[in-house]
Amino acid sequence: MKNIVIFGAPGSGKGTYSEAIVEKYNLGHISTGDVLRAEIKNGSELGKIAQGYIDNGQLIPDDLMIDILAATYDKLPKGQGVIFDGFPRTIAQAEALKTMLAARGDEMGMMIELIVDEQVLMDRLLKRATEQGRADDNKETIQKRFDVYRKQTAPLSQWFQEEGLRQTFSWSELKSKEGMIEAIFQAIDKANA
Ligand code: ATP
Ligand code: MG
Repeated sequence: MKNIVIFGAPGSGKGTYSEAIVEKYNLGHISTGDVLRAEIKNGSELGKIAQGYIDNGQLIPDDLMIDILAATYDKLPKGQGVIFDGFPRTIAQAEALKTMLAARGDEMGMMIELIVDEQVLMDRLLKRATEQGRADDNKETIQKRFDVYRKQTAPLSQWFQEEGLRQTFSWSELKSKEGMIEAIFQAIDKANA
């Protein structure tokens, strides 16, 4: 199975679709947000550093994030394929991921981009706040995360397109979780055929 990068704004459904993909294709799953939240829960040094950034809606510095990603990747079984959820989020992270994978004889096989209107995202994240109680799911921090996304992460979409990896799925066209999943599965099957 080809490695997959799943890409989109906060609340676009990266975690949800990753789970569906993992269930069907049995890929390894790296969610950098989940890795960081586990470190915070454990009270580790890394967790303490990460918390300051996350609570402010900012990104963890690239150097640190790249080390965490490589260490997490190397713990997964080789050759099974991995879905990267929440990484890369900057051009520097994307370049580093490409280099890190090439050094191991691997590569990014495809990028799945989720496009969702900001108003829909805000509604979803505020709903999630009442269900999951994530510290960064409050209106002010969400707005900051959107700003960070627009400035630091969204430009990466073009980078993936130039690499020939980008496949885009729009909520406004597909309109349902089932419709999104069906379209994504078709694209994955095609990429692996
Ligand atoms: P969702 O999971 O709903 O799509 P999200 O993208 O905002 O929302 P996570 O991916 O869980 O949430 O990330 C939460 C926070 O963790 C980010 O706001 C950021 O502070 C930090 N983080 C996660 N991944 C990275 C990364 N690749 N680089 C820098 N910081 C990161
Ligand atoms: Mg997530």
